[in-house]
Amino acid sequence: MAEVIDNEALFRHARDVIPGGVSSPVRAFGSVGGTPVFVASARGAYIRDVAGRELVDLVCSWGPALLGHAHPEVVEAVQEAAAKGLSFGAPTAAEVELADAVRARVPVAEQVRFVSTGTEATMTAIRLARGATGRDRIVKFAGCYHGHSDALLASAGSGVATQGLPGSAGVTEAATRDTIVVEYNDRAALEEVFASSGDRIAAIITEAAPANMGVVPPSPGFNFFLRELTSRHGALLIVDEVLTGFRVGPGGWLGLEGGYRPDIVTFGKVVGGGMPLAALGGRADLMQLLAPVGPVYQAGTLSGNPLATAAGLATLRLAGDAVYATVDRRSLELQAAVGEALSAASVPHHISAAGSLFSVFFREGAVTNYEEAKAQDQGAFARFFHSMLDQGVALPPSAFEAWFLSAAHDDEAMARIVDALPVAARSAQS
Ligand code: PMP
Repeated sequence: MAEVIDNEALFRHARDVIPGGVSSPVRAFGSVGGTPVFVASARGAYIRDVAGRELVDLVCSWGPALLGHAHPEVVEAVQEAAAKGLSFGAPTAAEVELADAVRARVPVAEQVRFVSTGTEATMTAIRLARGATGRDRIVKFAGCYHGHSDALLASAGSGVATQGLPGSAGVTEAATRDTIVVEYNDRAALEEVFASSGDRIAAIITEAAPANMGVVPPSPGFNFFLRELTSRHGALLIVDEVLTGFRVGPGGWLGLEGGYRPDIVTFGKVVGGGMPLAALGGRADLMQLLAPVGPVYQAGTLSGNPLATAAGLATLRLAGDAVYATVDRRSLELQAAVGEALSAASVPHHISAAGSLFSVFFREGAVTNYEEAKAQDQGAFARFFHSMLDQGVALPPSAFEAWFLSAAHDDEAMARIVDALPVAARSAQS
Protein backbone atom coordinates (compact mmCIF):
# COMPACT_ATOMS: atom_id res chain seq x y z
CA MET A 1 0.00 0.00 0.00
CA ALA A 2 1.29 3.44 -0.88
CA GLU A 3 1.63 5.88 1.98
CA VAL A 4 -1.42 8.14 2.32
CA ILE A 5 -0.61 11.81 2.82
CA ASP A 6 -2.95 14.65 3.73
CA ASN A 7 -2.99 16.90 0.67
CA GLU A 8 -3.82 20.10 2.61
CA ALA A 9 -1.05 19.52 5.11
CA LEU A 10 1.39 18.80 2.33
CA PHE A 11 0.46 22.04 0.56
CA ARG A 12 1.00 24.02 3.77
CA HIS A 13 4.42 22.46 4.16
CA ALA A 14 5.18 22.94 0.46
CA ARG A 15 4.45 26.66 0.73
CA ASP A 16 6.96 26.85 3.56
CA VAL A 17 9.81 25.52 1.48
CA ILE A 18 8.80 26.27 -2.14
CA PRO A 19 7.38 29.65 -3.29
CA GLY A 20 3.65 29.08 -3.66
CA GLY A 21 4.28 25.42 -2.99
CA VAL A 22 4.86 24.71 -6.67
CA SER A 23 7.68 24.47 -9.20
CA SER A 24 5.69 26.22 -11.95
CA PRO A 25 3.00 28.89 -11.31
CA VAL A 26 -0.13 27.53 -13.05
CA ARG A 27 0.03 24.41 -10.88
CA ALA A 28 -0.84 26.51 -7.82
CA PHE A 29 -4.57 26.85 -8.71
CA GLY A 30 -4.09 30.63 -8.50
CA SER A 31 -6.96 31.45 -10.86
CA VAL A 32 -9.38 28.73 -9.76
CA GLY A 33 -8.69 28.84 -6.04
CA GLY A 34 -8.31 25.91 -3.68
CA THR A 35 -5.52 23.47 -3.04
CA PRO A 36 -3.50 21.94 -5.86
CA VAL A 37 -3.63 18.18 -6.12
CA PHE A 38 -0.28 16.63 -5.25
CA VAL A 39 0.30 13.67 -7.54
CA ALA A 40 1.75 10.42 -6.26
CA SER A 41 1.69 8.45 -9.51
CA ALA A 42 0.06 8.26 -12.90
CA ARG A 43 -0.79 5.54 -15.38
CA GLY A 44 -2.63 5.69 -18.68
CA ALA A 45 -5.44 8.24 -18.47
CA TYR A 46 -5.34 8.45 -14.68
CA ILE A 47 -3.41 10.18 -11.95
CA ARG A 48 -3.42 9.13 -8.33
CA ASP A 49 -3.08 11.84 -5.70
CA VAL A 50 -1.14 11.57 -2.46
CA ALA A 51 -4.36 10.82 -0.56
CA GLY A 52 -4.92 7.77 -2.75
CA ARG A 53 -7.70 9.20 -4.93
CA GLU A 54 -7.77 8.35 -8.63
CA LEU A 55 -8.61 11.10 -11.12
CA VAL A 56 -9.11 11.07 -14.88
CA ASP A 57 -6.38 13.35 -16.16
CA LEU A 58 -7.01 16.00 -18.81
CA VAL A 59 -3.72 17.77 -18.21
CA CYS A 60 -1.42 15.02 -19.49
CA SER A 61 1.59 16.89 -18.11
CA TRP A 62 0.48 19.87 -20.26
CA GLY A 63 0.95 17.90 -23.44
CA PRO A 64 3.78 15.37 -23.29
CA ALA A 65 1.69 12.36 -22.25
CA LEU A 66 0.33 11.69 -25.76
CA LEU A 67 0.41 7.93 -25.16
CA GLY A 68 -0.95 8.25 -21.64
CA HIS A 69 1.12 8.20 -18.48
CA ALA A 70 3.86 5.68 -17.90
CA HIS A 71 3.45 3.79 -21.13
CA PRO A 72 5.19 0.46 -20.40
CA GLU A 73 7.43 0.62 -23.46
CA VAL A 74 8.51 4.19 -22.73
CA VAL A 75 9.20 3.35 -19.10
CA GLU A 76 11.20 0.32 -20.17
CA ALA A 77 13.25 2.37 -22.62
CA VAL A 78 14.05 4.87 -19.86
CA GLN A 79 14.93 2.11 -17.40
CA GLU A 80 17.26 0.51 -19.94
CA ALA A 81 18.92 3.84 -20.61
CA ALA A 82 19.20 4.60 -16.88
CA ALA A 83 21.03 1.35 -16.27
CA LYS A 84 23.68 2.51 -18.74
CA GLY A 85 24.30 5.86 -17.08
CA LEU A 86 22.28 8.98 -16.32
CA SER A 87 24.25 11.66 -18.11
CA PHE A 88 27.54 11.74 -19.96
CA GLY A 89 28.09 15.27 -21.23
CA ALA A 90 29.17 13.62 -24.47
CA PRO A 91 27.35 12.78 -27.70
CA THR A 92 25.35 9.56 -28.04
CA ALA A 93 24.04 7.48 -30.93
CA ALA A 94 20.50 7.84 -29.59
CA GLU A 95 20.60 11.61 -30.08
CA VAL A 96 21.46 11.11 -33.72
CA GLU A 97 18.60 8.66 -34.03
CA LEU A 98 16.18 11.12 -32.42
CA ALA A 99 17.35 13.90 -34.75
CA ASP A 100 16.67 11.54 -37.67
CA ALA A 101 13.20 10.77 -36.29
CA VAL A 102 12.37 14.47 -35.94
CA ARG A 103 13.60 15.25 -39.43
CA ALA A 104 11.68 12.34 -40.93
CA ARG A 105 8.44 13.77 -39.51
CA VAL A 106 9.19 17.46 -39.95
CA PRO A 107 11.41 17.82 -43.03
CA VAL A 108 11.97 21.57 -42.53
CA ALA A 109 14.03 20.56 -39.50
CA GLU A 110 17.00 19.71 -41.71
CA GLN A 111 19.22 19.81 -38.65
CA VAL A 112 18.20 19.55 -35.01
CA ARG A 113 19.78 20.80 -31.79
CA PHE A 114 18.56 19.31 -28.50
CA VAL A 115 18.02 21.35 -25.35
CA SER A 116 16.18 20.57 -22.12
CA THR A 117 13.15 22.90 -22.15
CA GLY A 118 10.89 24.69 -24.57
CA THR A 119 12.10 27.94 -23.06
CA GLU A 120 15.64 27.19 -24.19
CA ALA A 121 14.47 26.11 -27.63
CA THR A 122 12.68 29.39 -28.39
CA MET A 123 15.35 31.51 -26.69
CA THR A 124 17.96 29.87 -28.88
CA ALA A 125 15.78 30.26 -31.97
CA ILE A 126 15.57 34.00 -31.31
CA ARG A 127 19.32 34.29 -30.79
CA LEU A 128 19.90 32.32 -33.97
CA ALA A 129 17.52 34.56 -35.94
CA ARG A 130 19.28 37.67 -34.66
CA GLY A 131 22.69 36.16 -35.37
CA ALA A 132 21.67 35.15 -38.87
CA THR A 133 20.08 38.44 -39.89
CA GLY A 134 22.17 40.91 -37.91
CA ARG A 135 18.87 42.54 -36.87
CA ASP A 136 17.59 43.27 -33.35
CA ARG A 137 13.84 43.21 -33.34
CA ILE A 138 11.45 40.33 -33.03
CA VAL A 139 7.69 40.23 -33.44
CA LYS A 140 5.56 38.08 -31.16
CA PHE A 141 1.83 37.83 -30.67
CA ALA A 142 -0.12 38.85 -27.59
CA GLY A 143 -1.21 35.75 -25.73
CA CYS A 144 1.38 33.48 -27.36
CA TYR A 145 3.67 31.85 -24.81
CA HIS A 146 7.14 30.80 -25.77
CA GLY A 147 8.62 30.08 -22.36
CA HIS A 148 10.00 32.46 -19.79
CA SER A 149 13.11 33.95 -21.35
CA ASP A 150 13.24 37.73 -20.81
CA ALA A 151 12.69 38.89 -24.39
CA LEU A 152 9.64 36.66 -24.80
CA LEU A 153 7.88 37.52 -21.56
CA ALA A 154 6.13 40.49 -23.09
CA SER A 155 2.37 39.93 -23.24
CA ALA A 156 2.73 36.17 -22.97
CA GLY A 157 -0.13 33.75 -22.39
CA SER A 158 -0.15 30.64 -20.18
CA GLY A 159 0.65 31.36 -16.51
CA VAL A 160 1.20 35.02 -17.30
CA ALA A 161 -2.27 35.20 -18.82
CA THR A 162 -3.73 33.40 -15.86
CA GLN A 163 -2.19 35.81 -13.43
CA GLY A 164 -3.01 38.86 -15.52
CA LEU A 165 0.56 40.12 -15.25
CA PRO A 166 1.69 42.63 -17.86
CA GLY A 167 4.99 40.77 -18.17
CA SER A 168 7.21 40.09 -15.23
CA ALA A 169 9.10 42.00 -12.59
CA GLY A 170 12.80 41.57 -13.08
CA VAL A 171 12.65 41.83 -16.85
CA THR A 172 14.41 45.02 -17.83
CA GLU A 173 13.06 47.43 -20.35
CA ALA A 174 16.17 46.78 -22.39
CA ALA A 175 15.34 43.08 -22.56
CA THR A 176 11.95 43.66 -24.17
CA ARG A 177 12.71 46.90 -26.05
CA ASP A 178 13.25 44.93 -29.23
CA THR A 179 10.16 42.79 -28.80
CA ILE A 180 7.19 44.07 -30.79
CA VAL A 181 3.87 42.62 -29.66
CA VAL A 182 1.04 42.38 -32.18
CA GLU A 183 -2.52 41.11 -31.67
CA TYR A 184 -2.89 37.57 -33.07
CA ASN A 185 -4.51 37.14 -36.50
CA ASP A 186 -4.11 40.87 -37.21
CA ARG A 187 -2.62 41.14 -40.70
CA ALA A 188 -3.05 44.90 -41.00
CA ALA A 189 -1.08 45.51 -37.79
CA LEU A 190 1.70 43.27 -39.05
CA GLU A 191 1.82 45.07 -42.39
CA GLU A 192 2.14 48.34 -40.51
CA VAL A 193 4.92 47.09 -38.26
CA PHE A 194 6.89 45.78 -41.21
CA ALA A 195 6.26 48.92 -43.26
CA SER A 196 7.79 51.05 -40.52
CA SER A 197 10.62 48.81 -39.32
CA GLY A 198 10.77 45.74 -41.54
CA ASP A 199 14.48 46.16 -42.15
CA ARG A 200 15.18 45.89 -38.41
CA ILE A 201 13.08 42.80 -37.73
CA ALA A 202 15.00 39.55 -37.33
CA ALA A 203 11.98 37.26 -37.04
CA ILE A 204 8.36 36.68 -36.29
CA ILE A 205 7.85 34.00 -33.67
CA THR A 206 4.43 32.42 -33.52
CA GLU A 207 2.83 29.39 -31.97
CA ALA A 208 1.95 27.07 -34.85
CA ALA A 209 -1.61 27.16 -33.56
CA PRO A 210 -1.79 29.16 -30.34
CA ALA A 211 -2.90 27.23 -27.27
CA ASN A 212 -1.64 29.30 -24.36
CA MET A 213 -4.49 31.83 -24.31
CA GLY A 214 -6.88 28.96 -24.74
CA VAL A 215 -6.83 27.48 -28.21
CA VAL A 216 -7.02 30.18 -30.85
CA PRO A 217 -6.53 28.72 -34.32
CA PRO A 218 -4.85 30.78 -37.00
CA SER A 219 -7.38 32.31 -39.39
CA PRO A 220 -7.26 30.58 -42.79
CA GLY A 221 -3.99 31.44 -44.52
CA PHE A 222 -2.56 33.37 -41.57
CA ASN A 223 0.61 31.29 -41.24
CA PHE A 224 1.10 31.49 -45.02
CA PHE A 225 0.80 35.24 -44.72
CA LEU A 226 3.48 35.28 -42.01
CA ARG A 227 5.77 33.33 -44.34
CA GLU A 228 5.17 35.69 -47.22
CA LEU A 229 5.57 38.83 -45.10
CA THR A 230 8.81 37.74 -43.45
CA SER A 231 10.29 36.60 -46.77
CA ARG A 232 9.38 39.92 -48.37
CA HIS A 233 11.31 41.77 -45.66
CA GLY A 234 14.28 39.46 -45.25
CA ALA A 235 13.12 38.34 -41.80
CA LEU A 236 12.87 34.78 -40.54
CA LEU A 237 9.78 32.86 -39.50
CA ILE A 238 10.04 30.85 -36.28
CA VAL A 239 7.18 28.45 -35.72
CA ASP A 240 6.91 27.28 -32.12
CA GLU A 241 5.61 23.72 -32.09
CA VAL A 242 6.60 23.02 -28.49
CA LEU A 243 2.98 22.29 -27.70
CA THR A 244 1.56 21.19 -31.05
CA GLY A 245 4.59 19.27 -32.34
CA PHE A 246 4.00 15.49 -32.55
CA ARG A 247 0.74 16.03 -30.64
CA VAL A 248 -1.79 17.17 -33.23
CA GLY A 249 -0.38 14.76 -35.83
CA PRO A 250 2.80 12.91 -36.80
CA GLY A 251 4.27 16.08 -38.32
CA GLY A 252 2.71 18.49 -35.83
CA TRP A 253 0.71 21.49 -36.99
CA LEU A 254 3.00 21.95 -39.98
CA GLY A 255 2.13 18.43 -41.07
CA LEU A 256 -1.59 19.22 -40.86
CA GLU A 257 -1.47 22.62 -42.52
CA GLY A 258 1.45 22.08 -44.90
CA GLY A 259 2.49 24.20 -47.83
CA TYR A 260 4.84 26.74 -46.26
CA ARG A 261 8.33 26.40 -44.86
CA PRO A 262 9.31 28.19 -41.68
CA ASP A 263 13.02 28.85 -41.20
CA ILE A 264 13.18 27.53 -37.65
CA VAL A 265 10.82 25.23 -35.74
CA THR A 266 10.89 24.59 -32.00
CA PHE A 267 9.79 21.40 -30.27
CA GLY A 268 9.25 20.26 -26.69
CA LYS A 269 6.81 18.22 -24.62
CA VAL A 270 5.95 15.10 -26.74
CA VAL A 271 9.42 14.98 -28.31
CA GLY A 272 10.81 14.27 -24.84
CA GLY A 273 8.12 11.73 -23.99
CA GLY A 274 7.60 13.27 -20.54
CA MET A 275 11.27 13.82 -19.81
CA PRO A 276 13.08 17.19 -19.93
CA LEU A 277 13.94 17.44 -23.60
CA ALA A 278 13.18 20.00 -26.28
CA ALA A 279 14.71 20.95 -29.60
CA LEU A 280 15.01 23.44 -32.37
CA GLY A 281 15.38 22.52 -35.99
CA GLY A 282 15.50 24.35 -39.25
CA ARG A 283 17.26 25.14 -42.47
CA ALA A 284 20.69 23.56 -42.42
CA ASP A 285 22.45 26.79 -43.41
CA LEU A 286 20.88 28.53 -40.38
CA MET A 287 21.48 25.66 -37.98
CA GLN A 288 25.12 25.68 -39.06
CA LEU A 289 25.41 29.10 -37.44
CA LEU A 290 25.12 27.45 -34.02
CA ALA A 291 28.28 26.73 -32.02
CA PRO A 292 30.56 24.86 -32.47
CA VAL A 293 30.22 25.33 -36.25
CA GLY A 294 29.10 28.95 -36.22
CA PRO A 295 29.22 32.06 -34.06
CA VAL A 296 25.83 31.76 -32.28
CA TYR A 297 26.52 30.25 -28.87
CA GLN A 298 24.25 27.70 -27.23
CA ALA A 299 25.04 24.87 -24.83
CA GLY A 300 23.67 22.67 -22.02
CA THR A 301 25.10 20.21 -19.48
CA LEU A 302 22.03 17.99 -19.74
CA SER A 303 21.17 18.69 -23.39
CA GLY A 304 20.30 15.47 -25.21
CA ASN A 305 20.22 13.64 -21.89
CA PRO A 306 20.24 9.87 -22.54
CA LEU A 307 17.12 9.13 -20.45
CA ALA A 308 15.17 11.94 -22.08
CA THR A 309 16.39 10.89 -25.50
CA ALA A 310 15.27 7.31 -24.84
CA ALA A 311 11.82 8.50 -23.74
CA GLY A 312 11.49 10.69 -26.82
CA LEU A 313 12.58 7.95 -29.20
CA ALA A 314 10.22 5.40 -27.68
CA THR A 315 7.35 7.89 -27.76
CA LEU A 316 7.86 8.84 -31.39
CA ARG A 317 8.24 5.17 -32.34
CA LEU A 318 4.89 4.39 -30.71
CA ALA A 319 3.07 7.53 -31.89
CA GLY A 320 1.81 6.17 -35.19
CA ASP A 321 -1.32 6.96 -37.16
CA ALA A 322 -3.54 4.90 -34.85
CA VAL A 323 -2.52 7.00 -31.84
CA TYR A 324 -3.37 10.25 -33.62
CA ALA A 325 -6.64 8.82 -34.92
CA THR A 326 -7.61 7.86 -31.36
CA VAL A 327 -6.73 11.25 -29.90
CA ASP A 328 -8.60 13.00 -32.74
CA ARG A 329 -11.70 10.89 -32.13
CA ARG A 330 -11.62 11.32 -28.37
CA SER A 331 -11.20 15.04 -28.78
CA LEU A 332 -14.28 15.30 -30.99
CA GLU A 333 -16.29 13.16 -28.56
CA LEU A 334 -15.29 15.30 -25.62
CA GLN A 335 -15.90 18.57 -27.42
CA ALA A 336 -19.40 17.39 -28.32
CA ALA A 337 -20.15 16.24 -24.78
CA VAL A 338 -18.88 19.45 -23.19
CA GLY A 339 -20.84 21.57 -25.65
CA GLU A 340 -23.99 19.58 -25.00
CA ALA A 341 -23.69 19.84 -21.21
CA LEU A 342 -22.96 23.57 -21.22
CA SER A 343 -25.77 24.26 -23.70
CA ALA A 344 -28.22 22.21 -21.64
CA ALA A 345 -27.31 24.32 -18.62
CA SER A 346 -27.47 27.54 -20.70
CA VAL A 347 -23.89 28.44 -19.85
CA PRO A 348 -22.39 30.81 -22.45
CA HIS A 349 -19.43 29.08 -24.03
CA HIS A 350 -17.37 28.64 -27.15
CA ILE A 351 -15.33 25.54 -27.89
CA SER A 352 -12.26 26.41 -29.87
CA ALA A 353 -10.18 23.73 -31.58
CA ALA A 354 -7.02 23.36 -33.61
CA GLY A 355 -6.65 19.76 -34.68
CA SER A 356 -7.17 17.60 -31.61
CA LEU A 357 -6.28 20.48 -29.31
CA PHE A 358 -9.21 22.34 -27.88
CA SER A 359 -10.22 24.59 -25.03
CA VAL A 360 -13.49 25.92 -23.72
CA PHE A 361 -14.02 29.65 -23.50
CA PHE A 362 -16.70 30.67 -21.03
CA ARG A 363 -18.09 33.33 -23.34
CA GLU A 364 -20.10 33.36 -26.51
CA GLY A 365 -18.61 33.79 -29.96
CA ALA A 366 -15.42 32.74 -31.69
CA VAL A 367 -12.14 33.87 -30.19
CA THR A 368 -9.53 35.20 -32.59
CA ASN A 369 -7.06 36.95 -30.29
CA TYR A 370 -5.92 37.54 -26.72
CA GLU A 371 -8.26 40.47 -26.07
CA GLU A 372 -11.25 38.28 -26.88
CA ALA A 373 -9.79 35.34 -24.96
CA LYS A 374 -9.55 37.47 -21.83
CA ALA A 375 -13.19 38.52 -22.12
CA GLN A 376 -14.52 35.30 -20.62
CA ASP A 377 -16.12 34.42 -17.32
CA GLN A 378 -13.24 33.00 -15.34
CA GLY A 379 -15.49 32.57 -12.32
CA ALA A 380 -17.72 30.22 -14.32
CA PHE A 381 -14.67 28.24 -15.37
CA ALA A 382 -13.47 28.01 -11.76
CA ARG A 383 -16.83 26.62 -10.61
CA PHE A 384 -16.89 24.18 -13.52
CA PHE A 385 -13.30 23.14 -12.80
CA HIS A 386 -13.93 22.44 -9.12
CA SER A 387 -17.08 20.49 -9.79
CA MET A 388 -15.18 18.29 -12.26
CA LEU A 389 -12.39 17.84 -9.73
CA ASP A 390 -14.86 16.92 -6.98
CA GLN A 391 -16.24 14.31 -9.37
CA GLY A 392 -12.80 12.88 -10.12
CA VAL A 393 -11.71 14.67 -13.30
CA ALA A 394 -8.58 16.84 -13.36
CA LEU A 395 -8.85 19.69 -15.86
CA PRO A 396 -6.05 22.18 -16.45
CA PRO A 397 -6.49 24.68 -13.59
CA SER A 398 -6.88 27.72 -15.82
CA ALA A 399 -9.40 29.01 -18.33
CA PHE A 400 -6.49 29.82 -20.66
CA GLU A 401 -5.18 26.34 -21.24
CA ALA A 402 -5.94 23.57 -23.70
CA TRP A 403 -7.44 20.32 -22.43
CA PHE A 404 -5.13 17.44 -23.16
CA LEU A 405 -6.22 13.96 -24.14
CA SER A 406 -4.11 10.87 -24.73
CA ALA A 407 -4.39 7.63 -26.66
CA ALA A 408 -4.97 5.96 -23.27
CA HIS A 409 -8.29 7.75 -22.76
CA ASP A 410 -10.46 4.70 -23.34
CA ASP A 411 -14.23 4.28 -23.18
CA GLU A 412 -14.19 4.01 -19.40
CA ALA A 413 -12.13 7.16 -18.87
CA MET A 414 -14.32 9.04 -21.36
CA ALA A 415 -17.48 7.86 -19.64
CA ARG A 416 -16.19 9.12 -16.31
CA ILE A 417 -15.55 12.54 -17.81
CA VAL A 418 -18.84 12.69 -19.68
CA ASP A 419 -20.83 11.60 -16.60
CA ALA A 420 -19.36 14.49 -14.62
CA LEU A 421 -20.19 17.18 -17.17
CA PRO A 422 -23.89 17.93 -16.46
CA VAL A 423 -23.32 18.64 -12.76
CA ALA A 424 -20.22 20.72 -13.54
CA ALA A 425 -22.12 22.65 -16.19
CA ARG A 426 -24.87 23.48 -13.69
CA SER A 427 -22.20 24.64 -11.20
CA ALA A 428 -20.92 27.03 -13.84
CA GLN A 429 -24.28 28.77 -14.12
CA SER A 430 -24.07 32.29 -12.81
N1 PMP B 1 6.38 27.30 -26.30
C1 PMP B 1 5.12 26.86 -26.17
C2 PMP B 1 4.18 26.99 -27.33
C3 PMP B 1 4.70 26.30 -24.97
O1 PMP B 1 3.42 25.87 -24.84
C4 PMP B 1 5.60 26.19 -23.89
C5 PMP B 1 5.22 25.58 -22.55
N2 PMP B 1 3.91 25.39 -22.31
C6 PMP B 1 6.91 26.67 -24.08
C7 PMP B 1 7.26 27.19 -25.29
C8 PMP B 1 7.93 26.57 -22.97
O2 PMP B 1 8.30 25.27 -22.74
P1 PMP B 1 8.92 24.84 -21.33
O3 PMP B 1 7.84 24.97 -20.33
O4 PMP B 1 9.40 23.44 -21.56
O5 PMP B 1 10.05 25.77 -21.06
